[in-house]
Amino acid sequence: MSFRLTYATMYDPPEAMHERFEAALARVSATLGARHGLFIDGRDVDAEHSSDRRAPFDNALHLGHFALADEADADRAMRAAQAAYPAWRATPVAERARLMRRVGDLLEERVYDIAAALVLEVGKNRMEALGEAQETVDFFRHYADDFESHAGYHHTLPDDPIEGVVSHNASVMRPYGVWVVIAPFNFPLALAGGPTAAALVTGNTVVVKGASDTPWAARLLADCIRDAGLPPGVFNYLSGSSREVGAALAQHPLVAGLTFTGSVAVGRQLMRQMAGGAWPRPCVAEMGGKNPCIVTEHADLDDAAAGIVRSAYGMSGQKCSALSRLYVHERVADALIQRLQQRIGALRIGDPRERDQWMGPVVNATAYGHYRQYIDELEAGGATVLAGGRRLGEGTGGPAELARGFFVEPTLAEAPLGHPLWQHEMFLPILTLHRVRDRDEAMRLANDTSMGLTAGFYGGADEVAWFHEHIEAGVTYANRPQGATTGAWPGYQPFGGWKGSGSTGKAIASFYYLAQYLREQSRTVV
Ligand code: GLU
Repeated sequence: MSFRLTYATMYDPPEAMHERFEAALARVSATLGARHGLFIDGRDVDAEHSSDRRAPFDNALHLGHFALADEADADRAMRAAQAAYPAWRATPVAERARLMRRVGDLLEERVYDIAAALVLEVGKNRMEALGEAQETVDFFRHYADDFESHAGYHHTLPDDPIEGVVSHNASVMRPYGVWVVIAPFNFPLALAGGPTAAALVTGNTVVVKGASDTPWAARLLADCIRDAGLPPGVFNYLSGSSREVGAALAQHPLVAGLTFTGSVAVGRQLMRQMAGGAWPRPCVAEMGGKNPCIVTEHADLDDAAAGIVRSAYGMSGQKCSALSRLYVHERVADALIQRLQQRIGALRIGDPRERDQWMGPVVNATAYGHYRQYIDELEAGGATVLAGGRRLGEGTGGPAELARGFFVEPTLAEAPLGHPLWQHEMFLPILTLHRVRDRDEAMRLANDTSMGLTAGFYGGADEVAWFHEHIEAGVTYANRPQGATTGAWPGYQPFGGWKGSGSTGKAIASFYYLAQYLREQSRTVV
C-alpha cells in the first residue's frame, strides 16, 4: 500500500504509515556504522580521511564513517562536471526531464528508508523526516514539469526588417556550466535535492557539497541519482568541511554558478567569492530568518496558538522559516500566552525514533551550548521566561533517557524591546514575545530586522490585505493553524527571502526559480 505524503497525512498519519516507517527504521539501523564515500565522475570513491558521526539524540549511537573530501577531490569533481557539461547541455529537454522524474521515482521508492536516515542523522521526528523526503521527490517532479512547461524558455521574437534586410529574432535561455550546490544541516536532503534538480534540468552539471553535520542524507540522494543512470560527471557528490571544501568549490576557476542555503555570514562570504575570479558568477543564496508573527485583537487565538507552536518549535526551531518573534495585541496577550503554555507543556520531547515524539534534540554540542547562553542572556537582559528554558540532555542531570542527547525545552520568553536577541537568529526553539498597543506598532517591529524570509499573521479577514501590503517578507501566511511561518511545499508556496534572507528575490519552486540557472542569448539571424 502506498500513501501520498502530504501535510494532511503528516498530521494524522494512517497506522500503516507508522508500520512502514518502523520497518524502514529497523532496516536502516542495521546498516549503522558503514562507510559512506564520495561520488565523482560516475563512481563511488573513498576519501583519505573520514569523520565518525554520532546521533544527536544519543552520543553512544554511531551512525557511520563519512568521507571528508579535500581540495583535490573538489577539483576532480569540478573537472568531471566540466567535462560532462557540453553533452548534457545538448541533451534534449525531454530526456533531461525524464531522468529527473526517474530520480524522483527512485527517491519515492526509498522514501521511508531515507526518512529513517534523516531521523537518525538530524534528529527530526518521523513525520518531519517523511515530509522532507517527499518534498525532495516533489522538487524533482516539479522542476521537470516546470521546465517543460516553458518549452525550454525558447521565445521567437518579431522579425525586424531594416533597409530591406529582414532579421529573424529569438531569445534562448542557456545553462551556465558547472553549478555548485551547498546544502544546510536542517534540510540536508531537500535543500541539496531541490537546487540539484533545478540546475540539472536546465542543462547545468552539478557538484553537491553535503552539509558537514549531516552528510548522510545527501549521500542517499547521490545513490538515487547514480541509480537513475545519469551520464558520468553530470552529478557529483562531496562531503566534508564547509570551510575547506565549500571554499574550494566557490573559488574554483570552473565554477559557473552556486546555490547556497545556510547562514547570512557564510552566504555573504560565498557571494563575495563568486563575485571574484575571472568574472562575477551568479550566487543563489537562501539565508537566515528572524521571522515574526503578528496577532491582533481580532485573531482566533486557538488557531494562532496551534500555528505558533508548530512554527516556533517544530524541528527544535532549526528551520530558516521558524518563528522567533511574536507581537501580540495587549488585549489578547494573556489569553494567547495561556494557550501557548498549555500547548508547550503538552509537547513530547525525546528520542525521535519513537512514535508520536514531537521534538527531538538540537543538532550538535555547539547549538546545545548556545541554547543555554541565549537563555542566560535573555534573563540577564530582563526577559521573563514564560515556558521552558531548561536543557534536558547531556550534563544536566535531567531524565535518564535524554542524558546522552542534545535535548532542550521549547521556550517562550517575554523580552524587553531592545534586547539584542530580537535581532539575532538563534536557530533554536526560543520564541520571544512582546505586547503591542496596536497593529501598526506590531508591523513596525516586525519589519525592524535585516531579514525578510517568512512572516505570520492572525487577525480579522479584513486585516489580511493590510498585512500583505506592509510586511517585508518573501513568504507569508495568514490565519493558518498548520503553521504561522513554516511549511512551504513545492508547487503551493514559493519559498524565498527578502532583504538579508535571500540574494535574488526569486523563491524556491516559484515560476521564476529556474530562470536563475539560465543565461539569456539573444539570437538575430538574417
Ligand atoms: N521549507 C521549509 C518550511 O517552509 C523551511 C526550509 C528551511 O528552513 O530552509 O518550513
